[in-house]
Amino acid sequence: MNRSLERFALLAGVMILLGSVQFGACLGGGAVALPAALLLSAGITLLWMHFDLPSGRPWLPPLVCAGVVLLSVLLAEFTFRSDFAEWFSFLLAGAGSGLTMFVLLRTRVRCALCNRRMGVQALSFQCPRCHLKVCEETCWSFEHRRCTLCLEQRVPVLPTGEKWWTKAAGPRITYGRCQMCLGSAEQVDLRICPHCRRPQCRECWDFNNGECQRCGKALPDLPESLTMTVTQAAKTHGV
Ligand SMILES: [Zn+2]
Ligand SMILES: [Zn+2]
Ligand SMILES: [Zn+2]
Ligand SMILES: [Zn+2]
Repeated sequence: MNRSLERFALLAGVMILLGSVQFGACLGGGAVALPAALLLSAGITLLWMHFDLPSGRPWLPPLVCAGVVLLSVLLAEFTFRSDFAEWFSFLLAGAGSGLTMFVLLRTRVRCALCNRRMGVQALSFQCPRCHLKVCEETCWSFEHRRCTLCLEQRVPVLPTGEKWWTKAAGPRITYGRCQMCLGSAEQVDLRICPHCRRPQCRECWDFNNGECQRCGKALPDLPESLTMTVTQAAKTHGV
């Protein structure tokens, strides 16, 4: 709530700036006011999008810019008889802002899952399993460190080859139960944690991003994508 109020105040300040500079430009007649409207609105729109001010509706910045410029021209007309050509400033303001919005929106990265345009300052995550870049709001699971689709579909990340498993956690053991899913040695492929010696099945090692449920330590030689996301997530959380 406070944050949206802060954004609104910032937006209001930016618009007052636009209005007063445009008012000043009107003193110079149409030759100054028209290009000023175009350039100012383009600049203001860039600023608007940079701070990610309320912009869920792409038509909003051009409309607001055009409105503010029209108001300035109106004020200029009342204060001193201004050039008739200045009345068209609002069209150029709308065009400048609209064009900037168009270019900005075209270059914004979309979330690979929900297809929304990600904000300039928004975090995005590369899923270690499917390698898609997804938004943090709805498509990334912080808890499981993967995208929601991979979580839903149980997409694996660890290698499947026996050679890798023997090297990382030793051969399959024939006794005990998985500490996570409680599957018995006959039902699941149990591997011992190299650090705390507790058994955990291959599927649970995979689901847990290669980490032991008990001691939290990771298996050696995890796929690079996995370790990269771990550091990225740790960085953003300050862990
Ligand atoms: Zn998304
Ligand atoms: Zn994924
Ligand atoms: Zn298990
Ligand atoms: Zn362990």
